[in-house]
Amino acid sequence: MRTYPDPPATFVRGEGSYLYDVDGRRYLDFISGLAVTSLGHSHPVVAEAVARQAASLIHVSNLYANTLAPEVAVTLDRLVGGGDRPGGGQVFFCNSGAEANECALKLVRRWTGGRRTAVVCADGAFHGRTLATLAATGQPAKHEPFEPMPAGFPHVPYDDLARLEEALAAGGVAAVLLEPIQGEGGVVVPSSDYLAGARRLCTEHDALLIVDEIQTGLGRTGHWFAFQAQGLEPDVVTIAKALGNGVPVGACWARSEVAAAFSPGDHGSTFGGQPLAMAAARATLSVMEAKDVPRRADRAGMRLAGALARLPGVADVRGAGLLLAVQLDGPTAAAAAAAAAESGLLVNAVRPDAVRMAPSLLVSDAEIDEAVGLLGDVLERVGAAVGSP
Ligand code: PLP
Repeated sequence: MRTYPDPPATFVRGEGSYLYDVDGRRYLDFISGLAVTSLGHSHPVVAEAVARQAASLIHVSNLYANTLAPEVAVTLDRLVGGGDRPGGGQVFFCNSGAEANECALKLVRRWTGGRRTAVVCADGAFHGRTLATLAATGQPAKHEPFEPMPAGFPHVPYDDLARLEEALAAGGVAAVLLEPIQGEGGVVVPSSDYLAGARRLCTEHDALLIVDEIQTGLGRTGHWFAFQAQGLEPDVVTIAKALGNGVPVGACWARSEVAAAFSPGDHGSTFGGQPLAMAAARATLSVMEAKDVPRRADRAGMRLAGALARLPGVADVRGAGLLLAVQLDGPTAAAAAAAAAESGLLVNAVRPDAVRMAPSLLVSDAEIDEAVGLLGDVLERVGAAVGSP
């Protein structure tokens, strides 16, 4: 179906930070399948784990147990706890980010016993494309073609604790759902105490705090999870994208007391937690820990952001770690992203005037320098074309 614009390239192979198209042309991938292939393409440890698992057992359904899902759940729980102690929660496995959020939305309703059902969300947020996660998404233009939206998703301005408090005080609120950095909304970084303030307000109003770490999680922003930069404890954390390094897998973590609100039959997924996806997730997490990807993202992010800020036509660089937006001094992001692809660099226009970069967390300094060089040439050309009569 025509749900996407015409693609600029067709790929057949990937290796590390590089992709190769049908004609054998090489591209430097600085968008990573939308913040998914955090270990680069075809990482040998993940490829080997997936191939080995495919040859032994792919799927059994949740009528039965497998040995891998509990292991991945324990690792995720420890990473939610900061890496060195249990997070004290339980995990539901699914296949995508939207499904991870759907699980969270159902769980918080169950937790209130149906007494409170509203989930307060933020303007500009992106939480998925299913009807409920679309309703949670704070972008009215995406709602309009599909109205009426499911009810119960009031929106407040992002990074505004006073307005959040008003929404909570209105009553009927089961939870607040927030991204620690708004990814699809333009890589919007809130004040350094926003999430911790939201946590405090949720506690005061007996609402749960769901943190959507689908784009920011698993090392990308320089922490295992971006909320950890603010030293708070969420009730629910949703995870997907990088978890399988490209194999579709999502997860909803919740504090054990909250997770206990679900009873058998309340929620499910045919594929969720299947051996193939879990083998990918186990291998991905083991490489992420061995390589200490949060530290790498932090270091590489500083090098990349510093160099990007010096390019012509760049007004600002924002984000954290290796989730960055290059704010241009005009609405030329689409033209710049298209010209970059033609030059062999993949980035995306996250706003009319901002280009997003989310390279592999294992990106090398040489690859960063190559990307900055390519983008610099592109911005000079695009700037000259805009400036010319
Ligand atoms: N939440 C956030 C923060 C996202 O960035 C995305 C996808 O971009 C989603 C949810 C939805 O994930 P998926 O496309 O896997 O359903």
